Amino acid sequence: MFNWVKNLIGYGQGVGGCLRCGDKWSWKPIHSTYYSTTHGCFPLCQPCWQTAGPNQIQRYYRELVKLWRRNGSFYSQEFEDAIVAVALEEKGFLA
Ligand SMILES: [Zn+2]
Repeated sequence: MFNWVKNLIGYGQGVGGCLRCGDKWSWKPIHSTYYSTTHGCFPLCQPCWQTAGPNQIQRYYRELVKLWRRNGSFYSQEFEDAIVAVALEEKGFLA
């Protein structure tokens, strides 16, 4: 139930809020996308996730990976593409 809290600590460094509306996680529901059984990410809050189109999904998930890279971690292009694909599929944009 509180898995996203762990993810927030492990993967949310430098990302304290929604990349789209800028609202802070302390008072906005998070939409967490699980790209593996143990790892999730959350560039968007729940309302922004619900209204986002395919282009926005791509934009903000890529932006999140870029923010992670800026924090000094290595993430491959394949990893970035995979996260975007998971998010698009979760949204139902991939058949
Ligand atoms: Zn938002």
